[in-house]
Amino acid sequence: MNSRYEAVIGLEVHAQLLTDTKIFCGCSTKFGNPPNTNVCPVCLGHPGVLPVMNKKVVEFTVLMGMVVNCKINEKSIFARKNYFYPDLPKGYQISQYEEPICEHGKVEIELKEGIIKEIGITRIHMEEDAGKSIHDHSDATLIDLNRCGTPLIEIVSEPDLRSPEEAYLYLTKLKQIVTYLDICDGNMEQGSLRCDANVSVRLKGESKLGTKTEVKNMNSFRNVERAIAFEIERQIELLEDGKQIVQQTLLWDADTNKVLPMRSKEEAHDYRYFPDPDLVTIVVNDEWKSSISKQLPELPDIRRERFINQYKLPAYDANILTSSRQLANYYEQILTVTNDYKSASNWVMTEVLKFINDSKISIEDFPVKPDSLGKLIKMIEENIISGKIAKEIFPEMISTGKMPEQIVAEKNLVQISDTSEIESAVEKIINANPDDVQKFLAGKEKVLGFLVGQVMKETRGKANPKIVNDILLNKLKR
Ligand code: ADP
Ligand code: MG
Ligand code: ZN
Repeated sequence: MNSRYEAVIGLEVHAQLLTDTKIFCGCSTKFGNPPNTNVCPVCLGHPGVLPVMNKKVVEFTVLMGMVVNCKINEKSIFARKNYFYPDLPKGYQISQYEEPICEHGKVEIELKEGIIKEIGITRIHMEEDAGKSIHDHSDATLIDLNRCGTPLIEIVSEPDLRSPEEAYLYLTKLKQIVTYLDICDGNMEQGSLRCDANVSVRLKGESKLGTKTEVKNMNSFRNVERAIAFEIERQIELLEDGKQIVQQTLLWDADTNKVLPMRSKEEAHDYRYFPDPDLVTIVVNDEWKSSISKQLPELPDIRRERFINQYKLPAYDANILTSSRQLANYYEQILTVTNDYKSASNWVMTEVLKFINDSKISIEDFPVKPDSLGKLIKMIEENIISGKIAKEIFPEMISTGKMPEQIVAEKNLVQISDTSEIESAVEKIINANPDDVQKFLAGKEKVLGFLVGQVMKETRGKANPKIVNDILLNKLKR
């Protein structure tokens, strides 16, 4: 990036709320039902029907607002945002415009270890989702209205972000919060979390904001980062060529890693917003607010501190383990079986996360349940198996779902702690490697590791390495 310029980014993030029913009717929000079956006259937009507000949507939105330090407005209203889209049967979306429910918040992102930046939250409002147009049919576009009326919150940031990386960190933070609150599953690939990025550039030192474009259609965190980086470069090139930025909406194309123009940007007045006459003012009084605040769970930053203090984990481990509520829960469930905090952390951070990242599954779908991994760690702790054997049987636990003690018994992998058996293996190795023994006695201490390895091999990895080490040293020094 040309160092004379500075990027300015503001994100509009939509999160689909995990309520059982839709925002203004009793239809199910269940994903994956046959097309056009989760519908009723209200969400189909038939004339004469009346929407009724889902109380849970208000509670979820207020929870979010509280966590990101928003002012929770006592009164807020719904507005109609008018536009035509085939998957919007009413011809308008019910949203909030003037007087949204939450305003003036902030979240902290950690740029580098210990370096915190505050990102302002302009507002959070409630709205309904539209249906889905399905274009991948050869001769027609199909419409599925199951998603019509699914509750969303829109979280609008201040233009405080200065780089694609900051945007990535901010989004990660929002995902972490919504998943901790259990108000949204945070899945960007499946569209439950969506992000539109507003991007402009300006010369460093300039205080006026440049003309912005809005990039849509990024379905992963990495794509958001890439799309913003691309758009920053595109704008700088235009300005360097003496051209102007046109305010417009762009689509990110993940196949070509480019942005494509979608439409010229509409202005708020194009939507002819007006207060929805069918819905009453939402009133969140102090009493309701305080009962909602009682539903606040332990939040990520606090849980992270607790992991450091209670389990004596390095900050690095605690960061990763508390990155999602589900992962933190998994870790803590292991600790109901074993007290080896650090070892449990190592297993989760390496073996478990490697597998779920490689196979793109969530921790809830990981086949080895935490009590089973806890047992495995306990078996190492109690010297029943070696750490090496544990690593070897773990893939089998994943593929078969068997408990570790069953695999260990079936394969006869119990660690040898019987000293006489180890002693004879040690003697055999000493006799077989006289040159190495000489080297060791002449002061080359590194050779010891080789000899230990040979004994481990001789015992097919089952010897207790500490005992091998002790016996070997003992015999060599005699
Ligand atoms: P619009 O009316 O075009 O939707 P808003 O004022 O509602 O614009 O802002 C939408 C988002 O764009 C917000 O996240 C805001 O922070 C961001 N934004 C506004 N102006 C700029 C700008 N010049 N450059 C980058 N982002 C901007
Ligand atoms: Mg906007
Ligand atoms: Zn309905």
